[in-house]
Amino acid sequence: MQGVRVFVQHNRGACIINTCRMFSTTHHRAADQRSYKLVVVGGGTGGCSTAARFCHQLGKGKVAVIEPSETHYYQPLWTLVGGGIKTFKETVRSMKDVLPKECDWIKAKVTNFDPDNNTVVTSDGQKIKYDFMVVSMGMQLNFDQIPGALEALKNDPQVVSNYAPWTVEKTFPAIRNTRDGNAIFTFPNTPIKCAGAPQKIMYLAEEHFRKNGVRDKVTVLYNTALGVIFGVKKYAERLMKVVEKRHIKVNYRRNLIEVKSNKKEAVFENLDTGEKETFTYSMLHLTPPMSAPDELRQCKKLVNEAGYLEVNNDTLQSTRYPNIFSIGDCNSAPTSKTAAAVASQGGVVMKNLGALMNGKPMLKKYDGYTSCPLITSRGRCILAEFDYNGNPLETFPIDQGKERWSMYHLKADVLPFMYWNAMLTGHWNGPGFFRKAIRLGLSDGSIKKS
Ligand code: FAD
Repeated sequence: MQGVRVFVQHNRGACIINTCRMFSTTHHRAADQRSYKLVVVGGGTGGCSTAARFCHQLGKGKVAVIEPSETHYYQPLWTLVGGGIKTFKETVRSMKDVLPKECDWIKAKVTNFDPDNNTVVTSDGQKIKYDFMVVSMGMQLNFDQIPGALEALKNDPQVVSNYAPWTVEKTFPAIRNTRDGNAIFTFPNTPIKCAGAPQKIMYLAEEHFRKNGVRDKVTVLYNTALGVIFGVKKYAERLMKVVEKRHIKVNYRRNLIEVKSNKKEAVFENLDTGEKETFTYSMLHLTPPMSAPDELRQCKKLVNEAGYLEVNNDTLQSTRYPNIFSIGDCNSAPTSKTAAAVASQGGVVMKNLGALMNGKPMLKKYDGYTSCPLITSRGRCILAEFDYNGNPLETFPIDQGKERWSMYHLKADVLPFMYWNAMLTGHWNGPGFFRKAIRLGLSDGSIKKS
């Protein structure tokens, strides 16, 4: 196997903090070089669950997680925070409490990857060596690519975004303050995480306007850079019925290019004609352009042209370095980027990387499973689940394209519980097993496109 060596471990400067051992700028003494059997980059959804899986297998001191943030967020609940249904506090846990206690937490950013020497360099100058590495760095929010957006998010209470922890609590007050004019919801011209989230908050806002007697004075606009409302035909057809019934205006191929908060204006580019169009807003929910994090994009040896860590779509192994795998939003797997996808990818990486570590063949294949609970109101949700080919891959033997109360409660109450208690502890690999069990193993639940 290319480039994999075994290094002696010498963990100096360790500082025991409650659960996992934490190494940080303040606590580590010299820029010494440590080495681990497995280094996990990122302690978010993918990184934390991967570390838990491999700590179970490898034991104490063999796994390091490199993660700069003190806080772990359950981002899928931010839609409901923005909708005034859940509190931000419910989405937050301390990183030291969620990372497995058997791992070493290196509290820093990875600034450089050196895959030829099985080494990463951190923001505080440490060189960390690994036998194997899993990269799970998520996506970078590029608000700064839209002139005026950052300023508007900071200064205009009516410009909001559910996508960042520092803006999500602005959303519900802005919805409450909207009594007339245009309420605009945007979708950018880049891949994003949870492609349903920009419209879920729109449905919750529209319902609020209706229930509070201002709907006839508020125009609800969905300005999306895409040419369709959703990428999977079955769910797109159902969502079109929802927007028609609720008189929501969808403007396709419109990309937000500037926010002029002093004039309450949002400027869009028509991606087909190149023309600029200016809309006034009384409320603007913006979804920023996104990319893989800069530190990853800079390592041309690892990434594809778009800057995502290039993996084999089946095995999630790097196409160039066999001892590197990637899970989640920062990899190139051509599926919708969600925590649900991370769960399934985690199971695949656990099996394949586990096999590789033991010199066995990698047999597990990722089918692209991803899921998007499309909340359409307080108490109603379409549970989209699909694979690489856009074929629905539904867990329950009912039509999940219908707006359902049961799916709403799954999203609002059951999934958060499972996230904290099963997924982050490395025990949840997605619903594939249940999908087959419910159908007595006779079908995988996939519905082929007509
Ligand atoms: P993350 O969980 O974002 O973690 C990345 C980690 O990497 C972070 O902790 C970060 O600090 C760290 N990191 C970044 N750079 C570096 C570096 N240089 N060095 C070291 N560490 C670094 N998913 C669903 O399944 N269902 C939903 O309903 C849903 N709704 C969503 C709604 C919103 C508003 C948002 C924002 C997301 C939603 N998601 C949903 C998407 C889901 O949260 C993500 O897909 C998932 O968290 C991705 O996991 P990840 O590990 O790839 O990235």
